[in-house]
Amino acid sequence: MEAKNVKGTRDILLNETGGFRTIENILTQICGLFGYHELRTPILEHSEVFARGVGEGSDIVRKEMYTFEDKAGRSVTMRPEFTAGIIRSFIQNKMHIEAELPVKIFYHGPAFRYERPQLGRYRQFSQFGVESIGSSSLYNDAEVITMAYTMLASLALNNVTLKINCLGDKESRDNYREALKKYFEPHLDNMCPDCKERFRLNPLRILDCKVEEDKILAKDAPKIKDYLSASSLERFEKIKSALRSNNIPFVEDDQLVRGLDYYSEIVFEFAYVSKTGKDYGALGGGGHYGNLMKELGGPDLPGVGFSFGVERLFDILVDDGILEAKTSPVDIYVMPLGDEAKEYALNIANRLRVNGFATDMCFDDVKLGAMIKRALKKGASFAVIIGEDEIANNKLMVKNLKENVQEEVSSSELITYFNNLYMKSRGGCSCGRDCSVDCADCSCDNNCSGGNNNE
Ligand code: AMP
Repeated sequence: MEAKNVKGTRDILLNETGGFRTIENILTQICGLFGYHELRTPILEHSEVFARGVGEGSDIVRKEMYTFEDKAGRSVTMRPEFTAGIIRSFIQNKMHIEAELPVKIFYHGPAFRYERPQLGRYRQFSQFGVESIGSSSLYNDAEVITMAYTMLASLALNNVTLKINCLGDKESRDNYREALKKYFEPHLDNMCPDCKERFRLNPLRILDCKVEEDKILAKDAPKIKDYLSASSLERFEKIKSALRSNNIPFVEDDQLVRGLDYYSEIVFEFAYVSKTGKDYGALGGGGHYGNLMKELGGPDLPGVGFSFGVERLFDILVDDGILEAKTSPVDIYVMPLGDEAKEYALNIANRLRVNGFATDMCFDDVKLGAMIKRALKKGASFAVIIGEDEIANNKLMVKNLKENVQEEVSSSELITYFNNLYMKSRGGCSCGRDCSVDCADCSCDNNCSGGNNNE
C-alpha cells in the first residue's frame, strides 16, 4: 500500500517552501521593527496548560486537541495554539522579573487541531504571531493591531477587512453571559448539540456557531455593547481613535467573539477574500487577555497578541499573483562531457558555489542537448561545458543559455568572468557589495575590476 499523509496535514512542497520562508522573513523583519524577540516553546505541553488557558468552554479544548498519555501516564497535548504555552514559559522563566515590561515576543511554527479539513483549514497548520505581555496600556493593544495591519500591508495584502469588537472586562462579560442565557434558554431544544454544551460552559461561544439556524437566532441576541462597563467603553473608544489616527480602517462586528476563552476587552480579526473569490477564512486575529496569566498560576499581568495562519497567507498570495510558487533557479549548470570530466567539473562547481553562485551539475552520461534541457528546467542562466579538450587547455566553454551564445573562458578567469556578468543584475559582486560604486575599500577577496584573489 502506498503511504499517504495523515488526513488534514499538508506537505509544503519544493516550489512552496521558498514562499513560506519569504512570508516568515517579511513578518520577522516587522517584528524587529516593533522591538519583538522570538520565543520558541515546545510543541508538547501538559494538557492542563490549554484546558486552563484556552478554556474548557472552547471548541478547541472540548473536541479538537491532540491529547494523549505519555509512557509515564501524563496527559500531554500537541499545542493547538501558542499563547497559552508562551504564557506558561513567561511565568516559568520569571520574565516579569528579569525583563522590562511589556515583554514583546514573537513566535512561529506548527499547531494542531482536530478540525474538519476544508479550504484553508488543516489539522496541522503554521502560525506566526506575537504577544506583548505585561502592560495594561490601551496603546499597547493599539500598537499590536497596528503591527498586524503593517504585516499584512508589507505582504501587499491591502484589501483586508479589520473587524473589531469589545468583550469588556470580567464584570461586563458576566452580565452579558447572564443576558445571553436568558435569551437562548427558551430556544435550547432547537439548537445544535454543540450550542447546548456552549450554553452550559460559555454562552458567548454560541455567537460563533456556524449552524445556519443558530446563526439566525444569534443575530437577534443581546449585544455586548449594551453591557460594557464605562471603563471598557472608554478604553474601546480610545483604541478606535488611535487606529483612526494611524489610518487603519476597521469595521465593528458585535458578533465577533473569537474561538478562545481567554480574551477580554478588544478582540480583532482580519478577513480577506482572494481575487479568485475563494474564501480561506480569517487570515488571523487576536485580542487582549486580562486573566490568562493568573489562570496559569502567574502574576496578575495582562497581555495582547494575534496570530496569522501561514498556509492561508501563502495560498492567498499565490492566488492573487503576489507570490509565485516556484523553486529558486540555479545560476549556473556545469556539464561534464564524459566520466573523466566529472571530478574536474565537481571542482569547478564547488569553486563557483564558494564564490556565491548557485550551481548545479549533471552527474549522468547524457548528450549535450539533454544536459541543456536539464539546465533550462533548473532555470540556469549559464552552462559551463567541460570536455577533455577543455581540461587539457584549462579553458572552459561558457554558454549563455538565454541568448544562446557561447565563449571560451580560462579556468583561472572563470570567477571574475561571472562576477562581471552578475555585477549589474545583483548590484554588486558575489560578496554583496556594489562594485560599480567603489571597490577600493571593499574587504572581500574578489578584485572585480580584474583578477580574482579567491581563485
Ligand atoms: P486562532 O488561534 O483560532 O485565533 O487562529 C489564528 C489564525 O490561525 C486563523 O485566523 C487562521 O489563519 C489560522 N488557523 C487557525 N486554525 C487553522 C486551521 N485549522 N487550519 C489552518 N489555519 C488555521
